[in-house]
Amino acid sequence: MSSSCSTKRFAGKKVFVSGGSQGIGEAISLAFAREGARVAVNGRNKEKLEKFLPSLPVVPKGAHLACPADVSDEKAISQAVQQAFHEFGGLDILVCNAGILLEAPSEDIPLEDFMKVMNVNVTGVMLCVREVLRHWVKDGTKGSIVINSSVHQLIPKPAFLGYSASKGAVGNMVRTWALEYASRGIRVNGVAPGAILTPMNDGWANDPEKYKAVSSHIPMGRPGESDEIAEPVLFLASDQASYITGQTLYIDGGLTLYADFAKNWST
Ligand code: NAD
Repeated sequence: MSSSCSTKRFAGKKVFVSGGSQGIGEAISLAFAREGARVAVNGRNKEKLEKFLPSLPVVPKGAHLACPADVSDEKAISQAVQQAFHEFGGLDILVCNAGILLEAPSEDIPLEDFMKVMNVNVTGVMLCVREVLRHWVKDGTKGSIVINSSVHQLIPKPAFLGYSASKGAVGNMVRTWALEYASRGIRVNGVAPGAILTPMNDGWANDPEKYKAVSSHIPMGRPGESDEIAEPVLFLASDQASYITGQTLYIDGGLTLYADFAKNWST
């Protein structure tokens, strides 16, 4: 039995999701639409976005929207966010999800790769948030922003220098924006996923030996599913989290609990 639209948590809300047609972003877009929101889905590939839109649950008033742009391209992402404001007549929620990972030993890391990760994961987040804030400051929207970080905001990992630096920056950006805009009723939070089964992790997820090895380092004994990130993102964006701002919620099956200490090797 489907619930009526008035009982849906995000009925009438308008959401922008960067990198919203694949992996964790796809789960987030689907979850918002299921809960009644109109979703402006961003990604780099217009055709891919247009193919993805029909898979989103239909909402009673208005269609979902494809907003193609590279988040690290200032002009393109500004236009994409403006397009969403214009077509939807405003936005209530921004989810900065788009992110990339390029691995290299730190002594060999090509500057181009390091900069690419920073451009997408840090500058891309800044540009999306800046564009939305400009509108919200002007129109007085008490909006909510959720940024997808990573456990590598906290946990160092060899060959993850650019990624860890970018996610560490994101953690501080969340806290800065939260403080700067709290008095306007704008909330800003982050989620920090552990190992999640998305195309980003196809390298180990499709190899039974590697999958077992990864799982063995996670206290809960398994990687997470994209929906297990999407639901907490919806919670943080919702009125149920109305007094939460500046926080990063680690969603990692216990990965940040120093898994090695599960066995008593120190005494
Ligand atoms: P994914 O590679 O499956 O999806 C990333 C999405 O972002 C894709 O839709 C891609 O097209 C889009 N994207 C990439 N660069 C973009 C750009 N420049 N402009 C616009 N869109 C762009 O990855 P995922 O695993 O779903 O990751 C989503 C987010 O979650 C990332 O920020 C990632 O760092 C974070 N994260 C993922 C994991 C994990 O284990 N999968 C863990 C921690 C954090």
